[in-house]
Amino acid sequence: MALVVKKFGGSSVATTDKILAVANRILAEKKADDKIVVVVSAMGKTTDKLIELAGGIDAEPYKAGYLREMDMLLTTGEQVSIALLAMAFKKLGQPAISLTGAQVGMRTSSVHTKGRILGIKPKRVHDELNRGNIVVVAGFQGADKFGDPVTLGRGGSDTSAVALAGALKADECEIFTDVEGVFSADPRIVPHARKMKEITYYEMLEMARLGAGVMQPRSVEMGQYFNIPIHVRSTFNDKTGTIIREDYTVEDKDFEIRGVAHDMKVAKISVLGVPNKPGVAHTLFKALADVNIDVDMIVQSIRNIDRNINDIVFTIALNDLPEAKKIIGLTSEKINAASVLVEEDMAKVSIVGAGMLGSPGVAARMFGALARADVNIDIISTSEISVSCLVKGSQVTEAVNSIHDEFFPESL
Ligand code: ADP
Ligand code: ASP
Ligand code: MG
Repeated sequence: MALVVKKFGGSSVATTDKILAVANRILAEKKADDKIVVVVSAMGKTTDKLIELAGGIDAEPYKAGYLREMDMLLTTGEQVSIALLAMAFKKLGQPAISLTGAQVGMRTSSVHTKGRILGIKPKRVHDELNRGNIVVVAGFQGADKFGDPVTLGRGGSDTSAVALAGALKADECEIFTDVEGVFSADPRIVPHARKMKEITYYEMLEMARLGAGVMQPRSVEMGQYFNIPIHVRSTFNDKTGTIIREDYTVEDKDFEIRGVAHDMKVAKISVLGVPNKPGVAHTLFKALADVNIDVDMIVQSIRNIDRNINDIVFTIALNDLPEAKKIIGLTSEKINAASVLVEEDMAKVSIVGAGMLGSPGVAARMFGALARADVNIDIISTSEISVSCLVKGSQVTEAVNSIHDEFFPESL
């Protein structure tokens, strides 16, 4: 007997036919005494459409006063797909029950639209499994201490699935999606990208953090915390996909980097002409932190030594821009900034790999690849296992392909 958590993303359950196909596939693979929990996302582009709907009330719905209501709205998407999938199982003669995040005891923080899972008390799930039900759980959502629905950030169903697998001590966690696994770059941008057999939590977390949307970063952290291997695979065939785990177990070609990630959802903010004195950066970034806005690449440069003036440039997630603009408008007056510039048409391209530790020249090769593609680098930042460059959004395809071809020539 195995207890398995299987997660199906939005494109896997985009229509009622696809929902029936998912139910059929699960039943075809299920052994008689297997216990199965299925986590599902909202159908197709439902979440985007719900956000658009809110945009009809206010063009910028991701603002402080609206966030609780945004969660109330967005959680309805997953509620539709769990009900339909549970009905599909029943139609096929399999007892099943749908449960929301709150019903499976998923407790979250109260930071609406960016909730974090604080704990899971999955007694109800165990009870329903023991009654012979397949349990169909709404991804992307939990409830806070007031019982209010809270969503886990875009792509959050991955995190729901891995967290549930951990809390249930599941034997396996499978993430079914519209690609056959984790690739050396987004296959939509690099069609000849190579599928990995395995990738470590460490490298996958960095890939995800830098924009590889196939897994939500928090879900990889959860996997590592519970030490539960995650199998990322296709909904539409039964090929083995990619296993995300603590360490490599198979001989894989020893590339210096594991992959190229890109993120189009970034905004660049330049706070220009700020006084060069203690406390300025603190005032600016504390104001953003107070409203839960994550700041990414940060560069401070001295513009004018004589006049003692600095420029502070940084990036944030595009989603946070409306709120950030408000906060920065207020703070830039406080810190006496000369002006603020916002650029939305930017992208971050990154290389990731533990192999680059102790491999000098990797960054230079990346910059060379960008130069060959005639892509100008705006900001550079590094971590232990990654190098990132901010480039023009319109050049992201050339940038990613050129870097990929530099490091993975044999997959051409
Ligand atoms: P789901 O709805 O199943 O959660 P997502 O759209 O969130 O699916 O994630 C799958 C998508 O992630 C793929 O269609 C692919 O375009 C994108 N992606 C980005 N980077 C990678 C990568 N390195 N490997 C695989 N897929 C990637
Ligand atoms: N439906 C949510 C989203 O589109 C959660 C998910 O798909 O993982 O972000
Ligand atoms: Mg996803």
